[in-house]
Amino acid sequence: MSKNFDVVVIGGGPGGYVAAIRAAQLGFNTACIDEAQRSDGKPALGGTCTNVGCIPSKALLQSSENYEHAAHSFADHGIEVKGLSFDLAKMLGRKDKVVKQNNDGIAFLFKKNKVTFFHGKGSFVKGDASGWEIKVAGAAEETLIAKQVIVATGSNPRALPGAEFDEKLILSNTGALDIPEVPKKLGVIGAGVIGLEMGSVWRRLGAEVTILEALPTFLGAVDEQIAKEARKSFTKQGLNIQTGVAIGKISAKKNVTVEYTDAEGKAQSAAFDKLIVSIGRVPNTNGLNAAAVGLKLDERGFVAVDDECRTNLPNVWAVGDVVRGPMLAHKAEEEGVAVAERIAGQHGHVDFNTVPWVIYTSPEIAWVGKTEQQLKAEGVDYRAGTFPFMANGRARALGDTTGMVKFLADAKTDRILGVHIVGPMASELISEGVVAMEFGASSEDIARICHAHPSLSESVKEAALAVDKRSLNF
Ligand SMILES: Cc1cc2nc3c(=O)[nH]c(=O)nc-3n(C[C@H](O)[C@H](O)[C@H](O)COP(=O)(O)OP(=O)(O)OC[C@H]3O[C@@H](n4cnc5c(N)ncnc54)[C@H](O)[C@@H]3O)c2cc1C
Repeated sequence: MSKNFDVVVIGGGPGGYVAAIRAAQLGFNTACIDEAQRSDGKPALGGTCTNVGCIPSKALLQSSENYEHAAHSFADHGIEVKGLSFDLAKMLGRKDKVVKQNNDGIAFLFKKNKVTFFHGKGSFVKGDASGWEIKVAGAAEETLIAKQVIVATGSNPRALPGAEFDEKLILSNTGALDIPEVPKKLGVIGAGVIGLEMGSVWRRLGAEVTILEALPTFLGAVDEQIAKEARKSFTKQGLNIQTGVAIGKISAKKNVTVEYTDAEGKAQSAAFDKLIVSIGRVPNTNGLNAAAVGLKLDERGFVAVDDECRTNLPNVWAVGDVVRGPMLAHKAEEEGVAVAERIAGQHGHVDFNTVPWVIYTSPEIAWVGKTEQQLKAEGVDYRAGTFPFMANGRARALGDTTGMVKFLADAKTDRILGVHIVGPMASELISEGVVAMEFGASSEDIARICHAHPSLSESVKEAALAVDKRSLNF
């Protein structure tokens, strides 16, 4: 017998689970279907982000950074460490525990908000504006009838043709987060967020890491000045980053050999114990049975949606990685909330101009709004202000003075157009830039706000002051 719901969400990642909770909060009888499964057979709610993305990567980044501090910077604080070592199995076990806590946390939130959870694969059967029939294939088969459907099926790692993931030698993000022994030589193809974060983890634990990037520029989406500063740091740490390469044949036997042409056009060959391929992600519509109901995909395979996440089908919406826009967990969440509110007749809204980006390397890189090169290309008259962490008392006390904060503001109105940070706690500091831009603040607004002393956030204020060339501490 079929079960009726006001809202059925397919996918329990950040886009889907948050949409389900918000829909339930708004009074809808809501169900969420997710197929992910832990090794113990239990549901693994939370999607890519919780299971093989944001959360486990940050757990390993933290563990490896702690080790690096103990090995290299504790001595500066007068702390002597003798016989330092690490237990990789324990480190990976801690990461798994953090993931499980998040899986269970979402299951708890579903109970708390009365979201009905179905563990299995959800696919369209038939339907129209009066209701959609969704089949759940799991431990038990279920048929759900939904007035409204939210598709939040996320994304999968993109493989290099001829180098399919085996998760033993050629690793996607899943394998990269679970290498049982530190590889001596680790190759990474793709110097994007995932490549840099994973490369950093394994370098800190002792791997010799080479990152091969096809694009001629390093972190092309990042403000040039910030990217340059970051590259300098990464190179100093020992990450061998090569840009402008053309990847050729990849062969995996006992180890992985990558043939490539370097930026000078010279043929090269490198052998690695493991190879991480992080060249982007593709939308996941596998198993949705989109064709059965005529759900339209765009030419790149994303579910086609308008600005408000409406698909071509009445009362069918799609959010997160499976639709256009940045593949970020917080973008997926905001879209999920906005869709639930639209279903309730409210005016949910996502401002794509103020979605923050973060790379959790050391130094961290974070930004919101336009880069200097974008403003130049658009012919916008702007003023820039920068402030180095080297001149910040808290950064000196922390022993981490790498990097800077940079403000970009409209030359006439002083409205903030972009905030860019490379340095300690950039992931936390960027929120001030996001709030400022959401409220249409000027750089003078930030410059006139009292910031706690000593704090890294004073660098944000000082960079805002620098727009008007009146930094106080530099
Ligand atoms: C290594 C790595 C690190 C990352 N770090 C960050 C970060 O620090 N910050 C950040 O913002 N983003 C990060 N991301 C990106 C982030 O994980 C994604 O943007 C986010 O998970 C997208 O959420 P989503 O809900 O759209 O999809 P997903 O999280 O992919 O969730 C989709 C869910 O749907 C399920 N599903 C799919 N099809 C079906 C079906 N037919 N039936 C039932 N269930 C189905 C899947 O099993 C999955 O659980 C990272 C990604 C990776 C790979």
